[in-house]
This record gives sequence, structure tokens and C-alpha cells, in this order.
Amino acid sequence: MSEDNQSGIPTTGGPSRRRLLKVGGITAAAAAVGTIAGPLANDEARALGKRNTYDAIVVGLGFAGAIAARELRAKGLNPLLLEARGRIGGRTWTEPFADQLVEMGGQFVDESQPLITAELKRYGIATTPGLIPATAVMPTPNGPAPFPIAELQTRQGALLEKLFEGSKTYFPDPYNPLAERALVRKIDGLSLRNRLDQLRLSAADESWINGITAGQSGGSSSDGALTALAQWWSLAGWNSDAWYRAQSKRVSTGMSSVVEAILRDARADIRLNTPVSSITDRGTSVEVVTASGQKFTARTVVLAVPVNVWKTITFNPGLPSVHATATRQGVGVANSRKLWLHVRGMTEPKVVNGAEGDPFMTVLSHSETPSGQLLMALNSRPAINVTSRAEIQSALRAVLPEAQLIEHRAQDWGAAPYSRGGWALRRPGQLMAQLPAIQRPHGRLTFATSDIASGWVGFVEGAIEAGFRAACQAAELAKAKR
Ligand SMILES: Cc1cc2nc3c(=O)[nH]c(=O)nc-3n(C[C@H](O)[C@H](O)[C@H](O)COP(=O)(O)OP(=O)(O)OC[C@H]3O[C@@H](n4cnc5c(N)ncnc54)[C@H](O)[C@@H]3O)c2cc1C
Repeated sequence: MSEDNQSGIPTTGGPSRRRLLKVGGITAAAAAVGTIAGPLANDEARALGKRNTYDAIVVGLGFAGAIAARELRAKGLNPLLLEARGRIGGRTWTEPFADQLVEMGGQFVDESQPLITAELKRYGIATTPGLIPATAVMPTPNGPAPFPIAELQTRQGALLEKLFEGSKTYFPDPYNPLAERALVRKIDGLSLRNRLDQLRLSAADESWINGITAGQSGGSSSDGALTALAQWWSLAGWNSDAWYRAQSKRVSTGMSSVVEAILRDARADIRLNTPVSSITDRGTSVEVVTASGQKFTARTVVLAVPVNVWKTITFNPGLPSVHATATRQGVGVANSRKLWLHVRGMTEPKVVNGAEGDPFMTVLSHSETPSGQLLMALNSRPAINVTSRAEIQSALRAVLPEAQLIEHRAQDWGAAPYSRGGWALRRPGQLMAQLPAIQRPHGRLTFATSDIASGWVGFVEGAIEAGFRAACQAAELAKAKR
């Protein structure tokens, strides 16, 4: 199921007509052309409708684009914001489901992530811990079986320690993953599958962690780089307690509310439902053309769309080879489906870990409801049809036989045209091949997305890092005559 053709949000319309932008269950007054701070006065709106020249243009309004826009404004520039979808937030998207707010994309935040922590503090937004599971359902040679949660953390934790052994040496400063370049060069070509094979684990032991290595890689442990997951492990603090903790807290009012707060501070003109189709650097300015043929000009452009989407935009001149290769290979994982399952029949909070190839990478008790429980699940196996209630109920029965599905909702990020993938997890060799070249401006164009961050790639934290960097680069470029 893709959300890109969601109903209820207008796709076109004149600047003076007010639009409703639904954000995380909160309905904020905004305009198809307007500012997030509120509707425009008619005169102002008419003037904006004719306006096509700005100091800067930010393309894409996920976390990276929102931060870039706010920081450009703080540096005295007047940005125009162009977003393809009828909503803000990109790969974060807070939606109502079963009378609660749920995250269809990025969900967990942690104090080990300083940038998102600072944003939450700035806007006075709290975090909420999830339910603590009492039981873990784990793969065994005889099928999924229940274990006390402490056993999951001890046994799986020890296996993860083995998987990432040496990471303190090759990533002594995980925010600068190339600090030990010579050591990283030796292992960056290894896939997670290569590393699992090196460990020579028993089949039973391997099944306790290969659901993580495969699921995080978007389906197959052969697709994700050891260095990608090891960097995440290192950023969290090189131990399993910190690794688990980083996946436990969510934003109380939803991720979309944070993006909305950031955009309010950007005080910028925003056009939703405005996919960009081409970007031409004319030396002293950049021309941006939308799918409907509208043209906008600015002294600099921040491209804040996912790496996997770059290949759908025409660039004149063409992208440098490192960028062109990255978008051809993909950085956002191919298979990333997030599901919310409203079930009855469960008597305690549980977590399920699947093995590589299983329908669910994870199923996690999220919250209680008057009728039962809300479960969050991640699927990275294309074979399963996540829109089919029968297929989901059958896959669920295999791991949680007591759970009866009341209703479910799924978001397929790989199928969404403005994402073309889920979270970023670099492939073997991409770290050495891409950094730092992929973070450099190309003419008057700068790049902002979590997919190219130095630390916390594939997290909201990485998107914020990338947004700050791109805004600094763009502000310099806006000053430059040529
Ligand atoms: C299922 C899932 C679970 C995740 N879990 C977590 C988690 O628990 N914690 C965490 O921190 N992170 C998590 N992430 C990752 C996190 O959501 C992303 O890293 C982050 O949101 C990416 O932000 P971004 O700004 O780089 O890109 P995006 O959020 O993808 O924003 C890019 C924007 O560009 C727009 N766009 C695309 N093409 C065009 C175009 N041609 N013209 C104009 N606009 C365009 C898109 O519509 C989008 O709004 C998860 C992601 C997924 C998919």
C-alpha cells in the first residue's frame, strides 16, 4: 500500500484558497502555497502566486529539508520549499490508527542522539517509553518459541557483541567513520552475510541475529554492509544495552509534530503536491522545474530528497559520478514495510524476532487499547502481501497464535515513488566510495538527507545532521557571484 496517492489532500489549487494540512492527527491551517505558520492574507498570497525567484529553494520536506529551511531563514535567506507529497515529514509520518497516533515510518529516538534531543528540548516535546515486553518469541529449530525477555537480551546481546567485535578499534570515533581509514578499508567490502559466515555460529545461534542483519538490510544479509550496522552499534555505545535502549522511546506527539514545529520557525513559502522534475545550474543561479512545468529560480538549491529518488530528477549538468553511482545502487533499503496490527487475545506485552526469510523481522507490543493491543511490525520479505488481511493473520498466527487481528495498516516505503526505499543502510563498499564526496556541493546545488550523513545514517538524527550541513553550504553559495 502506498500513501502517495492519499485522498483528502488537494493536489492543485490557487494560492488564495486555504488548504488543510493534516499533520499527525493535528489539523494545522496551511495553504497549498503558504506558510506553515498560518494562512496567508489574500494580497500576500496573490503576490506569492506570481513570485518565482527566491534566495534559496529547498526540495523535499522531511527532517533534512525542514532543518535546512529553518537554518537558511536563520541565516537571513528567504527560502521556497517544494514538496512532492501532500504532506510534510517524508519517511516520518504520524497517523491516527485504532484511536492512537502511530508512526508509519521513523519512530524511535534516544538521548544518545544529540541533535534530535536538542530539537525536542527546543520545542518542548516529550518522549514516551514503549511497553516493556515480558516474553520474547524467538526462532528455534522446531519453530518460534517463547523465552523470558532477559534470555533474549543475554543470548542475542552476546551474539551481537561477537558480530561487532573490533568495532571500537575500527570506529573509535563513530561520528567520523573514516578516522581509521586503513582499518575500515579492510572491512568495508564485507556484507553482513560475509561477517555471519566468518563467525561460524550454529544454525540455532545464527537465527537469533540474522533476522536483524537481513531485516535491517531490506531483506537479505548480503545487501547490507558490516560497517553500516557496526557504525550504528558504535554510535549507540558499543554494547547491547545501549543498542536495545536506542529502540525504545518515541515522540509523544508524533514525529510529524516535530517537523511541523521546525517548519513554523522556517517561516517559508511552502508548496505541497509539487514534485520537482529538473534542476539546471546556470552558473549564477539555479532553475528548478516542477512536474507541472512551473519554474522557480534561486541562487542556491538544497536537494533534500532520498538518494534513491535522485535518479528520477534531471540534473543539468549531470550529477557527479559518486552521486550518480549512489542513486543507481540505492542507499535506502529496497524492502521496508511497516505494519500496525490491532489485535485481541494477547495477555502480556511481547516481542517477536524473526530469522532471515521469515515474514516479520520484528513484531513488538506497542500499547494497550480497550479491545486488546497495538502491535508494530516490520516486514522485509517481498513474498508477503502486506495489504492482505488473510496473509497477515496467517503470518501472525505462526508467531503469536493467541493474537486475533481486528484491523491492520501497512506502509510500503520501497513502493512509494518519493522514497523508493526505507531507512538507509549502506551497501558493502559504499562508505569508502561515498564519504565525504557525496556531502560536497555540486555547483550551486547542495545535498541533504539522512542517507548521506556522517553519523546515524538512516535515522532522523542523520537527517538533521545533513540538513544543518547543507544549510551552511547553501548560505555560502548564495553569497557567491559565480
Ligand atoms: C519503516 C521505517 C522505520 C524507521 N525507523 C526509524 C527509527 O525508529 N528512528 C529513526 O531515527 N529513523 C528511522 N527511520 C529512518 C528515518 O525515518 C529517515 O532516516 C529520515 O526520516 C529521513 O529523512 P530525510 O529528510 O533524509 O528524507 P525523507 O524523510 O525521505 O524526506 C524527503 C522528502 O523529499 C520529498 N521528495 C521526494 N522526491 C521529491 C521530488 N521530486 N520533489 C519534491 N519533493 C520530493 C519526499 O516526499 C519527502 O518528503 C525509519 C524509516 C523507515 C522507512
